[in-house]
Amino acid sequence: MKNGGDLSCVETAFEGIMRGDDVLESLIAGVNIVELDPEDTSVGYGGLPNADGVVQLDSCCMHGPKKQAGGVASLEGVRTPSLVAKAVMDYTDHHLLVGPGAQRFARNMGFDIEDDLNTERSRQQWLDWKRRIDPEHYLDPHKRTDAGHQAGMDMVREGLIREEDYYGTINCNGVNANGDVCGVTTTSGLAWKIPGRVGDSPILGAGLYVDGEIGAAGSTGRGEANLFGLCSYLIVEEMRRGQHPKDAGMEALRRIRKATIETRLLNDRGLPNFNVKFYVINRRGEHAGVSLYSPDDSYVYSVCTEHGARHERLDGLLEGSASG
Ligand code: ASP
Repeated sequence: MKNGGDLSCVETAFEGIMRGDDVLESLIAGVNIVELDPEDTSVGYGGLPNADGVVQLDSCCMHGPKKQAGGVASLEGVRTPSLVAKAVMDYTDHHLLVGPGAQRFARNMGFDIEDDLNTERSRQQWLDWKRRIDPEHYLDPHKRTDAGHQAGMDMVREGLIREEDYYGTINCNGVNANGDVCGVTTTSGLAWKIPGRVGDSPILGAGLYVDGEIGAAGSTGRGEANLFGLCSYLIVEEMRRGQHPKDAGMEALRRIRKATIETRLLNDRGLPNFNVKFYVINRRGEHAGVSLYSPDDSYVYSVCTEHGARHERLDGLLEGSASG
């Protein structure tokens, strides 16, 4: 996805890094392309909205060498939450601003605040989801949540939205020749979420963790599963103990599998009925993409090196797919 331009996210990030730009600034310039793309419904402008039809965005970033971080959650009205996360890092003493406070901060920092970040496409998909909810389920809050989730998953199965967009996020990590490692994660979060719900993406240690001496890890997929174990932090700690990015990522996936015991979260094989993915890079530039499930060739992550941009297959922990 290039949003009509010449370069993709990873190509833009790589070009910046090779030019000698700051690694984090290069990564954010990359994810901005996707955040601003009206056709992409997983992040930024045109991201799938919450249950009320409002687009609420989450993002965080970490700078390895500077040992700085910033994040925003439930931010409305700004197309590029990653840049607001960076402003939190650069201009405040804090790591996380949320909701209306985050929006006020963005306004004060000169960001354009828009009334509505929906595109015609995200609005239509939200309307379709709304129509699918059986009103009688509104009587029982638990059934309502289940019905909402079910309606969303039906839309994925029917090919109306991609699974990546229902659970859709970008995590972009990079390292330059000096070993400066940084990362950014940005998302519109879980589609049709309860307003105010914040997932793993803006939470340091969950949606992203960077240690300048070790490496970076970030995630997409069911945020609740990742938040429970702060898995990006876990992965970086595993690398600190000498693990390769792939093995470190697999360890986090094993933890998630072990922590998933509620029946509602299990498929008929007794395994998690959702997916979680981690993207991991160490200071030497070794990297991996791992996924609870990676059933076919569409399960890939993007890489850009001096040999150009390419997709690499995600390594799966479990056989088959989340649905059973
Ligand atoms: N991890 C994100 C969240 O839970 C969403 C996603 O990747 O789909 O908000």
